[in-house]
Amino acid sequence: MITSLNIHYTQPSDLLEIQQRFQHHPADKTLIQIFSGQVTKPEIEQLLQDLKALFPGVPILGATTAGEILEGKIQEHSVVLNFCFFDATAVQTAIIDEYDDLHQAGKTLALALKPANPQAIILLGCGLKDRRTVDATALLNALYAEFPAAIIAGAQAGDNGQGMISYVFTENGITAQGAVTAALSGESLAVHNSYNLSWVPIGKKFTITKAVGSRVYSIDNQSPLNLYNHYLGTEVVQGLPLSAADFPLIIEHDGIPMAIHAMGVNEDGSFDYIHSFHSGEQVQFGFCHSGLLAIAAKQTSDALRAYPAQAAFIYSCVSRKWILGQDINVEIAPIANLAPTAGFFAYGEYFTHSDLGKCLFFSQTMTVLTLAELDKPEAAVLADQLKPLITAEESKQLKTLRVLHRLVERSAHEIEIINHKLSEMAHEDFLTGLFNRRHFDQQFTAEFRRAQRSGEPLSLILLDVDAFKLYNDTYGHVKGDSCLRAVAAVLKQVPQRPGDSVSRYGGEEFVCILPNTDFDGAMLLAEKIRQDVSRLAIPHSTSAISSYLTVSIGVQTAEQITEGQTPELLISMCDQQLYAAKMNGRNRTCGSRSSF
Ligand code: GH3
Ligand code: MG
Ligand code: MG
Repeated sequence: MITSLNIHYTQPSDLLEIQQRFQHHPADKTLIQIFSGQVTKPEIEQLLQDLKALFPGVPILGATTAGEILEGKIQEHSVVLNFCFFDATAVQTAIIDEYDDLHQAGKTLALALKPANPQAIILLGCGLKDRRTVDATALLNALYAEFPAAIIAGAQAGDNGQGMISYVFTENGITAQGAVTAALSGESLAVHNSYNLSWVPIGKKFTITKAVGSRVYSIDNQSPLNLYNHYLGTEVVQGLPLSAADFPLIIEHDGIPMAIHAMGVNEDGSFDYIHSFHSGEQVQFGFCHSGLLAIAAKQTSDALRAYPAQAAFIYSCVSRKWILGQDINVEIAPIANLAPTAGFFAYGEYFTHSDLGKCLFFSQTMTVLTLAELDKPEAAVLADQLKPLITAEESKQLKTLRVLHRLVERSAHEIEIINHKLSEMAHEDFLTGLFNRRHFDQQFTAEFRRAQRSGEPLSLILLDVDAFKLYNDTYGHVKGDSCLRAVAAVLKQVPQRPGDSVSRYGGEEFVCILPNTDFDGAMLLAEKIRQDVSRLAIPHSTSAISSYLTVSIGVQTAEQITEGQTPELLISMCDQQLYAAKMNGRNRTCGSRSSF
């Protein structure tokens, strides 16, 4: 059984009662956590000194904050202390004072904790470096790799929103550029965690078109500043970068939506974000309101209620407090009903996602850690015990928002489908459904370069319908069009390999790209196409070649393409073969191979 006590600390005498009650409790089975809204070094040093005098040898873990949480309430500029007196769980702290290489920092911390095999690791990192929020992903990955069975929880120290300097500390020191951790090891310790994002994606999907690390230069080929201005308007743009936290970009990693907000706006219109982005990633704006918050809070507390909790810790993003104001109580109070609760508002939260096998660096979330010491192993919780229940009243209150949200989501989804179709159509020939000339040009250049690199052969088939002008003159353009569709259908059937592509080259001419296909193979296909077209037996009474529609075909194979050769040269050589087929009487295939 854990005895967890939280107090609002102002002076050493506040501690006397606890000190007397637990003076014989083993120091290594005790943890004092400090969440300090006082963020100067002398204040922290004094506090540590006072605590160490009263609780000698007791592990201490602390961070400066951007707001403290004491039971169900939010505080500011105060000092909240949590005392955990464990029956059987051993506590061990570690501190590192450097953050240059985050991966290395994670490994160093792990080394300092070993050989402990903890169930829980509380990690508090310095939230700021060069006045920017630290992206702790590499540190979390490294630490989690060493302790995959542990739940790592915690967050990054704050400084009341100043963005200047934040501290973390243990009984052994204070750092403004490192991290501290407490490992909790004991078989009877049951550890659970949960988080709320509550921000939901809304509206159109955008693509990050240029990003270097956490700086994004363009989204959908325009500067983030222009994009925010266009979609969110001046209300948001005027308040940047703070206002960007209201509408973070939502990105999905491993199926988990994460909210990433801009932290800095640069003169060139690029934005600096709390996380790194990569070109090609898809994002949406996210929004939140107190209704969503209430539901998510209820889900979290319902989920955690299924497990025993004797101590609860909340690590919540400072932006939630800024944006939601007093509404934030809606999500903190239900946790405080579960167990004694303390915590703080942070500059980035750490959350271990056991199903994914990862410790994630979140921003904008509220994360919760619960601890309990149990006499016997915890029974498995049935899934439906975890199912959150939303009352009819709550559901009614949220109805309008839900409908609105659905309306925007559906519209955005439909626009997306249309966009997709449009871009497909831009590559499609309307009459035949084959690729168009534009697609062919791009594709052929790409295949040409690929063959040049790989040394593989590349073949091209150029097809022209014989006496087609006469066909139109005889049967009319409408019949002429269906004739072209029929030839296209044959062309779609014959080349079958995944890399093959057939395009309408123009008018009554078609072209097939056959990557990694040698001359004999290409000739075989071309002949098959020619014969299949004549087998269609489309009457052409005015043709001098046959009473049915026929085609002439040129084939050119480049067996090996050397440097300096161009795609245009291969096309013109193929065209010469087509010309030869025409000259030699039409309704035939002429081909040639070359090694350039
Ligand atoms: P050859 O045997 O030398 O190839 O003679 P041809 O009449 O087929 O060649 P020419 O290049 O003189 O004429 C091509 C004709 O194809 C002219 C044009 O009316 C027709 N054509 C081009 N595009 C279309 C189309 O989209 N629909 C129809 N119906 N006809 C088209
Ligand atoms: Mg022609
Ligand atoms: Mg023709």
